[in-house]
Amino acid sequence: MKRKNKNKTRSYQTILSHIGRDPQKYFGLVNVPITRGSTILFDNLKKFENLDQEYSYGRMGNPSCESVEKIITKLEKAAGTVLAPSGLSAITSAIFSCTKMGDEILVSDSVYEPTRKLCDNLLAKFGVKTIYFNPNIGEEIAELITEKTSTIFLESPGSLTFEVQNLPLIAKIAKKHNISVIIDNSWATPLYYRPLLLGADIVVHAATKMFAGHSDVMAGTISANKSHWSQLKKTHQLSGLCLSPDDAYLIARGLRTLPIRLQAQMKGAIKLASWLEKQNLVKRVLHPALPSHPDHKIFKRDFSGSGSVFSIILQPAAKKALASLIDNLQLFGLGFSWGGYESLVMPAWPEKIRIAQKWKEKGQLLRIHVGLEDIDDLKADLEAGLKRYAADL
Ligand SMILES: *Cc1c(COP(=O)(O)O)cnc(C)c1O
Repeated sequence: MKRKNKNKTRSYQTILSHIGRDPQKYFGLVNVPITRGSTILFDNLKKFENLDQEYSYGRMGNPSCESVEKIITKLEKAAGTVLAPSGLSAITSAIFSCTKMGDEILVSDSVYEPTRKLCDNLLAKFGVKTIYFNPNIGEEIAELITEKTSTIFLESPGSLTFEVQNLPLIAKIAKKHNISVIIDNSWATPLYYRPLLLGADIVVHAATKMFAGHSDVMAGTISANKSHWSQLKKTHQLSGLCLSPDDAYLIARGLRTLPIRLQAQMKGAIKLASWLEKQNLVKRVLHPALPSHPDHKIFKRDFSGSGSVFSIILQPAAKKALASLIDNLQLFGLGFSWGGYESLVMPAWPEKIRIAQKWKEKGQLLRIHVGLEDIDDLKADLEAGLKRYAADL
């Protein structure tokens, strides 16, 4: 039996358990099954000529993919969502849908590094100029706007250095100049941050991260508001950057448990970050949910929760100290990405990539992703690591 959702105030937790499924259509199966297919047959010429059926070709739409699109559209309060084969390709489609040759794009200096490389290489090649700005910019963003500016790209907080951008203010200024605002919302997810309601036009996600939740799939999502939906959908179809139904299935499956994973990982990350803040070898903790964070006020105003990832700045030391900290960790893995159930560390060197606002922190940045392990076990692992670091200082 199909149940209608009459109660519009249902919480996201409930919505996530029920939306994007159709047992009636699939023999009572709880989840939308993996629907593989390229060719989709038409009954007759008239239907073929008018593409008069629900699905027409594998690349143009598929039940497994639609299931995820529905969920994200609802969570982001968007007009529509399309899926991409990675988070980075979601960013590519979003930017391509808003820019053309000769345009300028303003990009936060704190964005994920591959976004930067996309701008500096591919966009540059197609005649789009990138101007990076201080992630803590306010009204002054107006001074960077020219008649060529078509797009502003944000990632809030930056997934390495964790500056929170003043989206409502930036979006207000952008609107005045008819500029599109794209934001990468992978960290907080729509459960804790809803950028379209704060003035953004397009929201992208590395679904590879918290949506998937198990470090076993690459995917991205792109959602747009009413004014940007048709241009996004068109760009996405023209580029052919669709997601496979197998991967979409894994994302839909991951999304069902997102609220409990995210909540547990948020709590774990805050606990660990607060503890790290008290350690002598840790100069600073970069976590927007801690009152010590310079952007904590904006965070509290705009977000209802925080993500699983944050960074610390260690007291300066020789490379040897960093290696003995990292190489002997028992629970934290060393690797790119985040969002899975296993905790990770990753060193990074923002001073090598920043342009608009030089990175002045003296000391090693270490990004920490908190998985689903017991927090005291994680603490003990890091405590031993810090001891090794101190011994090699
Ligand atoms: C990982 C990540 C991406 C890219 O996602 P992929 O699926 O690895 O391409 C984009 N933005 C942020 C913030 C990320 O952490």
